Amino acid sequence: MDSPVAPVWSEAAGPPDTQADVVVVGSGCAGLSAAIEAARAGLDVMVLERAGLAGGASAMSGGCVYLGGGTPLQEACGFEDTPDDMFAFVMAATGPGADEAKIDLYCRQSVEHFHWLTGCGVPFKASLYTGTFPEPLTDDGLMFTGGENGFPFNEMARPAPRGHVPIAHNKRPMGHTSGVVLMAHLAAAAEAAGARTITETAVQRLVRERDGAVTGVIVRQGGAQRHIRARRGVVLAGGGFIYNEEMLAHHAPHLLGKAKLGTDGDDGRCIRMAQAMGAETLHMEAAEAAFGLPELYLEGLLVNSLGQRFINEDTYFGRIGQAVMFRQGGRAFAIIDDAIHEGLSDIGKFYPAGWVGADAAELAQELGMTPGVLEETVAAYNRHAARGEDPLFHKAARWLRPLEPPLGAIELADRAFVSFTLGGLHTDVDARVVDVDGRPIPGLHAAGRTTSGLPGWGYCSGMSLGDGTFFGRRAGRALAGGPQE
Ligand SMILES: Cc1cc2nc3c(=O)[nH]c(=O)nc-3n(C[C@H](O)[C@H](O)[C@H](O)COP(=O)(O)OP(=O)(O)OC[C@H]3O[C@@H](n4cnc5c(N)ncnc54)[C@H](O)[C@@H]3O)c2cc1C
Repeated sequence: MDSPVAPVWSEAAGPPDTQADVVVVGSGCAGLSAAIEAARAGLDVMVLERAGLAGGASAMSGGCVYLGGGTPLQEACGFEDTPDDMFAFVMAATGPGADEAKIDLYCRQSVEHFHWLTGCGVPFKASLYTGTFPEPLTDDGLMFTGGENGFPFNEMARPAPRGHVPIAHNKRPMGHTSGVVLMAHLAAAAEAAGARTITETAVQRLVRERDGAVTGVIVRQGGAQRHIRARRGVVLAGGGFIYNEEMLAHHAPHLLGKAKLGTDGDDGRCIRMAQAMGAETLHMEAAEAAFGLPELYLEGLLVNSLGQRFINEDTYFGRIGQAVMFRQGGRAFAIIDDAIHEGLSDIGKFYPAGWVGADAAELAQELGMTPGVLEETVAAYNRHAARGEDPLFHKAARWLRPLEPPLGAIELADRAFVSFTLGGLHTDVDARVVDVDGRPIPGLHAAGRTTSGLPGWGYCSGMSLGDGTFFGRRAGRALAGGPQE
C-alpha cells in the first residue's frame, strides 16, 4: 500500500491554501457531470485530476451509454421501450444485489438524461448497429448491449436496444473512440459552466471536522502538499480499483492477473479514503469480465473444460465472461467448424484454433477431455440445431446450425478477459456516501466506478458511463441544494 489514506482533522490540516464550494476528485464522466451540475447551479467548482490529462477511463471507453425507456433515438430507430420494461430488464441483469431504488430512478429519468447529454452537445446518430463487435466501428448510434434480446431476458421484458453510442468518425479501439467524443463535450460543458479542472493534482486524504463532516482534501501538487477547502463538500469520482493489486487480492481475487480496462488512476484510493471515514462498501468482488470477440462463439458452441455447455452463446459477452471467470474456473473453449472460421473477421482469425479434430471424439482427445462428454455435447447440440432449437440454453434460431466436422477449439482463457471492478462505495440515490451504520457522511458524495452503482453484480455495456454521468449529476445537484426528484 502507498501513503496513508486516513482523514486529517481540519485543525491539523492548517489554513487552506485555496478553496471552492465543491471539490470533485477525478475528471472522468462522473466527476465532470457532478461539476457541470454544481457549476450550473452557481457554485464555485474545482475538479482535481491526478493525471496530466483529464478524462480518465471514460475518455478511453467505447462511449456507449445505457439509456432507455423511450429515448428519441430508440423511437427514431423504430423501437418501443418503457421505463417499466427497462426496469424489469436491469433488475434481472444486474442482480443479485441489484439496487432497486437507483435502478428505478435511473429508468424513470433515462429519457431526461438522454436530453441532458444531447444538451451538453453529445451527438447521436439514429441508426441501429447490427454487427457483433462489442463497440461499433461505424457511427451507428444504437445497439443491444446487455443480452436484452436473448434468453432469459427476452422472456422477462420486451427487448429494446439501449446502448447509445455518440457519433465519432474514424474510430479506432483505444484510440479515437466515442468515449473521446463524449468526454470532449462534457469537458466543454464543465468549462462553459465555470468549473475549473486542475490536472497533476493527486488527492491523498480527506479533511474532516470534529462533527464528522468532510470539509476538504489534502493534495500532492508539484511535489508540494496543499490543503484545499471544500465549503459545500467533496465528490469522490476517482474510478475503480482494477489497478490496485492488493485491493484485488483482498476483495476480487478472480481478477488478479487478468487484462485490465482502465487507467492507473483506478487505484481504489477514493474508495479507501472514504472507508477510512467509516464508509460502507458493496459488491467489492463484482467485475465486468468481457470477451471482446463474440463472433468466435456466437454460431458455434461454448464449452467448459469438461466439454459441457454452460450458457447460451448469444447472450451478452460480459455475462459469458462472468460465467467463465467466476463459475467455470476461468477456462472455456469455442468449438467451431470450417464455415465459422471462414466467416470470421480478420481480427477473429487472429485467434487460432489451438486444437483440431476430425470429429468431436478426436477433438476431445486432443483437448485432454474425458472421452464421451464433448461428443455428447456436440451431438445433442447438432440434433436440436437441425430443427432450429436449443432446448437447453435457448440460443436464438438465427444462430443455430449443426456443426460439420472437422472441428476446432479456440481457448478463451486469461488473455481473453478484460476486466474492471464494479464494487465500491455504498451511496444513496443522491450520491451521498453512506457509512457502516447506514448514515450519510456529511459533505461526502461519490459517483462512477468509485461506487457500487447501477450494476450490483451483473453488468451491461454502457452502465458505467450511464450511472457515472447520472449519479454524478445528482451529486452536483445535491451539493447545490436544489430540489431533486
Ligand atoms: C477500453 C474501454 C472501453 C470501455 N467502454 C465502455 C463503454 O462503452 N461504456 C461504458 O459504460 N463503460 C465503458 N468502459 C468502462 C468505463 O469507461 C469506466 O468504468 C468509466 O469511464 C468510469 O468512469 P469514472 O468517472 O468513474 O472514472 P474515470 O473515467 O476513470 O475517471 C476517474 C478519474 O479520476 C482520477 N483520479 C483517481 N484517483 C484520483 C485522486 N486520488 N486524485 C485525483 N484524481 C484521481 C483518474 O486519474 C481518472 O482520470 C470502458 C472502459 C475501457 C477502458
